[in-house]
Parts: sequence; C-alpha cells; structure tokens
Amino acid sequence: MNEKIEIKKKVLTKNDEIAAEIRRRLAVKKIVALNMVSSPGSGKTSLLEKTLAAMNDRLNIALIAGDVQTENDAQRLLRAGGRQVRSIVTGGACHLDANMVDKVLEEIDLTGVEVLFIENVGNLVCPSGFDLGEDKKVVLISTTEGDDKPLKYPSMFRRSSALIINKIDLLEYSDFSVDRVRENARSINADLETFEMSCRTGAGLDPWYDWLEAKVAEKKGS
Ligand code: MG
Ligand code: ZN
Repeated sequence: MNEKIEIKKKVLTKNDEIAAEIRRRLAVKKIVALNMVSSPGSGKTSLLEKTLAAMNDRLNIALIAGDVQTENDAQRLLRAGGRQVRSIVTGGACHLDANMVDKVLEEIDLTGVEVLFIENVGNLVCPSGFDLGEDKKVVLISTTEGDDKPLKYPSMFRRSSALIINKIDLLEYSDFSVDRVRENARSINADLETFEMSCRTGAGLDPWYDWLEAKVAEKKGS
C-alpha cells in the first residue's frame, strides 16, 4: 500500500474521532454548529457581520474565524458585535481541522450558546474532507465567480446543506447565471437549500435569518 495514502488515512481517522467528540459536546448543549466554506472573497465574513447585526439580540452566537495569516476577520466580527469571537490562524494551512477547533472551543463559554459559526479558510478543495464536528456545511458562491463552480468542486457541494449565492447586486456586471448555478449545484446535491442575497445591500437576507432560527428551534426540540 502506498505509504502516503496510509498516512493521510490515519490523519483523517484521527480528525474524525476528534470531530465526533466535538459533535457530541455541542449536541448536549443543543448548539447549531455551521461550518462556513467558500473560495476566498465570496463573502463569508460579510455574511457573518450582517447576521450578527440582525440576530445578536435574538440568538446567542459564538464565532470561530479561521484564516491563513491574519486575525482580520475575527476583528471584523468583534466590531460587528460578536460577544464570543475566537480566531484560528493556521500559519499557512489551507483548511481548518478538528484539532484546531477543539483547542479553541476550550476558550469559549458554551453555556447558553445557540449557534456556533466556524468560518473556514477560503478554499473549496480540502476543507470538504475535514469534518469539524459541525451540524451542517454552508457553502457560499458569489456572482463574481464562475457559475460552474459546483461542477468543479463537487465534493464540497455534495457535503453542504445550504448554498448561499452572494453579491446578487453585481449580477448585471457579470455573465453569472443564478439559474445555472442552482441547476449545477442541484445536479450534485438535490437536497441543497439555496439563498440569494447581497451582503452589501442587505437584499435577500431575511430567508437566511429565518432558516437560522428554524435550525435553532429544531435543535432545541431534538
Ligand atoms: Mg473571511
Ligand atoms: Zn487544506
């Protein structure tokens, strides 16, 4: 057996064990954990800023912001009103793994927390292979990207529960087709729930807030 493949398998098994433990811990506290994934610049941090501004009074939200080099995103989330924000600087690694999340979770007081957002590193490839103990992955794509991205990165779209199409305010300046991206995404994953919005203008965000509240209610009833 190829030694490299063997090592990779072991790393992923260890990751899955830690992720399962995280999932158990969050389930006991009835916390909805969302792993936010996208290419760089699709608007993950902007979406979280908007969500904090709109929902901070209604939901108890904790956030983990992963980044390769800076703590800029965590700073933005703090400025947006985040009560509990922690950053993970991966120092070059292009994805978060369960061990990184596990360590930083120890610094968060989970009492009363209803939603935990984990902003992953901007990358549609390997974050799909690393379970972080989340309930769901939410994948973002913006209208300044190609609408064939679901076909190029099928693993990520297969493993995601929701697709957010962001920057719809820029549609008139691009060849991006919302219908086409939805079709491409659903050809990979028929169960994907989709949202269209502009985090810049605030258009289309209400259904996302409703979805979040519904997930929290579901979790509490479980
Ligand atoms: Mg960001
Ligand atoms: Zn990676």
